Amino acid sequence: MKRDNKTYDFLIIGGGIMGLALARELKTRFPGRSVCVLEKEKEVGLHASGRNSGVLHAGFYYSADSLKAKFTKDGNAEMKKFCREKGIPVNECRKVVVAQSEDELESLYELEKRGIKNGVEVKLVDEKELASIDKNVRTVKWALFSPTTATVNPVDICQAMQSELLAMGVEIRLGVEYRRKIGEGAVAAGDAVYEAGMIVNCAGLYADKVAHDFGFADEYVVIPFKGIYLKYHSNDKPVSINVYPVPNLKNPFLGVHFTITADNAVKIGPTAIPAFWRENYAGMGGFNAKEMWETVRHECALFAKNSFGFRDLAVAEIRKYNKRHLAKMARNMVYAIDENRFTEWTRPGIRAQLLNTRTSELVQDFMVAGDRRSVHILNAVSPAFTCSLPFTRWVAEKFIGNFHQKH
Ligand SMILES: Cc1cc2nc3c(=O)[nH]c(=O)nc-3n(C[C@H](O)[C@H](O)[C@H](O)COP(=O)(O)OP(=O)(O)OC[C@H]3O[C@@H](n4cnc5c(N)ncnc54)[C@H](O)[C@@H]3O)c2cc1C
Repeated sequence: MKRDNKTYDFLIIGGGIMGLALARELKTRFPGRSVCVLEKEKEVGLHASGRNSGVLHAGFYYSADSLKAKFTKDGNAEMKKFCREKGIPVNECRKVVVAQSEDELESLYELEKRGIKNGVEVKLVDEKELASIDKNVRTVKWALFSPTTATVNPVDICQAMQSELLAMGVEIRLGVEYRRKIGEGAVAAGDAVYEAGMIVNCAGLYADKVAHDFGFADEYVVIPFKGIYLKYHSNDKPVSINVYPVPNLKNPFLGVHFTITADNAVKIGPTAIPAFWRENYAGMGGFNAKEMWETVRHECALFAKNSFGFRDLAVAEIRKYNKRHLAKMARNMVYAIDENRFTEWTRPGIRAQLLNTRTSELVQDFMVAGDRRSVHILNAVSPAFTCSLPFTRWVAEKFIGNFHQKH
């Protein structure tokens, strides 16, 4: 194995939004230090960061003590500012969460309370006021209105960040896959050995595997959940605002919703279908027998125990592969829609959702672990795209801040 010709101060594994935002933060914080990003694909942002709904969330879903609550409001504002500076369009289309029965109102009020506690602008609106926002959106009695939710094209953001990093002197090594840790501060990647003062794991769907190599997160494993979307084909848009159902607050998924994309198209999704392997986007693509066996084994155990209602969730989600069924879910949130216009599946995304194998529960919040030589960003699920700028700043402050004293 050949030895890479450089020892870096910071070596980041993964060129999704978390790896890119962290590289930006570290190069800004320590301009004289060398930063290298290893990305196994030929482009940055090819996985979750380029395959998500593109929603800049407002921050009202999360309980006040969570990292999600801590970063979403600022993340939303900072990402909008980044887009303005780079000339990337932001669709300030806003959002409403609608109730489909009176039983859901309790959870809707809870979301309002969380929003207020998190300092996020939210407003309960009655049916009349909802009609003045969008006359086709239907709710039962009350809806929660979020004026700061917006949408972007996440691929544009990853690419703009990549260009900025290259201009700052960050090295981005594409097509180089981390394979294993080979010693303190050294990893085998591609056909070379890379050494670094600090290694940061931002490997998304593989972040648990990398963390295990470094002795972290032993009892956690990624369970991939696939999100598929259906695009609405018509010049006559059924909605002008993002429309979400009231979620089940016990699990981390927000439910199938209408998204107005950055370029003003309408799509519904994403689902949360348990996938069989980590990059199981379509057909046999990304197939890995060992991985499938591991994933399916965990999923079967969850199914048998029905942990956190997994059995019901899996059955309900798999039904959403049916176009008609998925379109019907959208119909429940509006007065009028032509379901036949949901014709095209768009690029699916897969969530790197962490499972605690000891408690058989899904981890709700972001998780970060590390020591003086390595840091591991785990469970960077939604809304980590929105949160990425303040989240990586916090990682740098809390886990890497005293790097100068250590090296
Ligand atoms: C369907 C869906 C919808 C979502 N909607 C939203 C939303 O609307 N708003 C929002 O804020 N968030 C949303 N999210 C969440 C958001 O996309 C993620 O939180 C975010 O993209 C995570 O970024 P990441 O960099 O951790 O992961 P990724 O983007 O997956 O990046 C990880 C990178 O690591 C690379 N990698 C993996 N293993 C290796 C290795 N061994 N060697 C080298 N490189 C490696 C991968 O190739 C990948 O590029 C959504 C996610 C999904 C799946």
